[in-house]
Amino acid sequence: MRNLVVLLGKPGAGKGTRLSELMATRGDDFEVIAVSNLLRKVRNDGSKIGKKIKSFMEAGELVPDEIVNNLVFDAIRASEKTVITDGFPRTVGQAQAMLDSGLFPTMLICFDIDDEEVVKRAEKRLACGHCGETYTTDGFKPPKMHGICDKCGHELSRRADDEEHVVRKRLEDYQNKTLPVMSVLMKAGVEVMSIDCMKEGNVSACFAGIMEDL
Ligand code: AMP
Repeated sequence: MRNLVVLLGKPGAGKGTRLSELMATRGDDFEVIAVSNLLRKVRNDGSKIGKKIKSFMEAGELVPDEIVNNLVFDAIRASEKTVITDGFPRTVGQAQAMLDSGLFPTMLICFDIDDEEVVKRAEKRLACGHCGETYTTDGFKPPKMHGICDKCGHELSRRADDEEHVVRKRLEDYQNKTLPVMSVLMKAGVEVMSIDCMKEGNVSACFAGIMEDL
């Protein structure tokens, strides 16, 4: 790993979309570790641990730190590029374990968005159950072919955790468990940048600008 950039933001803030855009132009410079996709891969392999992961993910609950941490740390260490973690650390325990294992983020980028906007976006989201790529039903990011993933050709559907009551539970988790991660990393001396995701038009340029120097 050359540099380590941590992305934080409520579900649906637009991190995944901006990462796809960034990787389309600068895929040689960066490696994205999307923790939910990493977990989905293990979930789909039919193993005992995969089944455990499935039950947490479907309920919209965080997978326990002892399962997530090593998977992520191994993936970060295996990379020779600047690593961007999407969805990690999401708890103070994960943040502390990351610092303790010598993985010090160069930067933390926070995607800011209101709760009600998150709920609205989840209603309009379609996802690929195979690779995790997301699309929208409102024309903002439609798939090229109706109901089919552009990336891997698998069928698109609504995610179980995009149901409103689950989204609200995830927002509560974000408030209680993930926001404190910011103070842990700030106290440790990590540089923090914020992007206002309510202004949809600005987000891509803002993110690309921050990543330019890395
Ligand atoms: P996401 O697509 O990033 O909202 O993540 C979907 C689901 O993956 C979450 O609801 C959790 O079940 C799981 N997940 C993703 N990242 C983490 C993490 N850092 N720690 C624990 N569980 C996670």
